[in-house]
Amino acid sequence: MMNMQSKYQLTQHNSFAFPATCPAFYQPSSIDELNEVVSRLSPPFYILGEGSNTLFTEQTTSTILQPNIKGITVEESENFVFVSAKCGENWHELVNFCVEHEYYGVENLALIPGSVGASPVQNIGAYGTELADVVEQVKWYDFKNKNIKTFDRSACQFGYRDSIFKNSLANKGVIVEVTLKLSRKWQANLTYNGLDSLPKNVSSKDVFQQVIKLRQSKLPDPNKLPNAGSFFKNPIVSSEEFERIKTLYCAVPSYPQKDNKIKLAAGWLIEQSGLKGFKLGDVGVDETQALVLVNYASKNGQDILQLAKHVQKTVLDKFDIMLQPEVRMLSKDGLIQLTLDKKA
Ligand SMILES: Cc1cc2nc3c(=O)[nH]c(=O)nc-3n(C[C@H](O)[C@H](O)[C@H](O)COP(=O)(O)OP(=O)(O)OC[C@H]3O[C@@H](n4cnc5c(N)ncnc54)[C@H](O)[C@@H]3O)c2cc1C
Repeated sequence: MMNMQSKYQLTQHNSFAFPATCPAFYQPSSIDELNEVVSRLSPPFYILGEGSNTLFTEQTTSTILQPNIKGITVEESENFVFVSAKCGENWHELVNFCVEHEYYGVENLALIPGSVGASPVQNIGAYGTELADVVEQVKWYDFKNKNIKTFDRSACQFGYRDSIFKNSLANKGVIVEVTLKLSRKWQANLTYNGLDSLPKNVSSKDVFQQVIKLRQSKLPDPNKLPNAGSFFKNPIVSSEEFERIKTLYCAVPSYPQKDNKIKLAAGWLIEQSGLKGFKLGDVGVDETQALVLVNYASKNGQDILQLAKHVQKTVLDKFDIMLQPEVRMLSKDGLIQLTLDKKA
């Protein structure tokens, strides 16, 4: 029997811990139940994983569909292991499972909050690895045809915090399963700052533990101080734009990308704008990690929205760079954008 509730309270379902309610909450735990929901579902609705990249901007949200299909299966070949996890599994627990079984390739992605189903949406990444590096295929349930389509890695159109599921396929279906292609031969990826000090013969478990340790020291724990991780994406600018900023601020950190583009650190831009530790009522910019907006005691998602706009405007005024949110922002009518008029 499918779990369906009306006027459902979502405090436990978003890492900002806002007490929004939704008019209807559907939690299908099988494809049959998903078929059933889809026949009843009408817009606006939102597909919710564990809500660790989602801001409820109002006291009421749209209808929520939270797919809760579970299960992990493993297929081994001589050199590779294919691990398939259903969307309702927890990402970190999946990484832990792989590390325990000595399936290599995901250790750097330890402790990223959220569900397996959401992991391809923004192509989660950390410590020099992103999901795109290890994905074999994604199974996606199409609302229109009520069937499952398989996307290989290239069909997912992965980019920096981006994929086809976030763009042309957004809200048109549900990711039901993710298959990872992992290695049976251990090779550490220690290029990232903080991992480069580990010894060459380090084990996969050591890398996993080190990533956990680094993350715990750098990011506020949402269970203690509600937040959704990095609120903004790191902006990618042209080399001309980068030169303009570098002339003014010679210490600007930069990360060269493909196509002659440069990635800047949004946290640095926010910090240089004097906003690290800034408070606006019951919400604020984190005191140690300026890229994270935190909820000290607010019961209203509007407060984070107002703070995000203030951060965006202040950085724009100082650097002429428009930060774009990584976090998805939901009103009762569906997703909303955070875009200021550049000339305002
Ligand atoms: C403390 C903290 C640290 C973080 N660190 C990182 C990090 O290092 N790297 C990183 O990349 N992210 C990071 N994040 C962001 C977050 O962990 C990821 O975005 C994660 O994938 C969100 O998973 P979720 O299930 O909570 O997604 P939700 O917030 O529930 O949903 C996110 C998006 O995915 C869609 N979605 C969810 N499930 C499905 C599905 N089954 N099918 C289709 N669409 C779906 C939603 O509609 C929404 O658009 C961090 C967040 C926090 C709170």
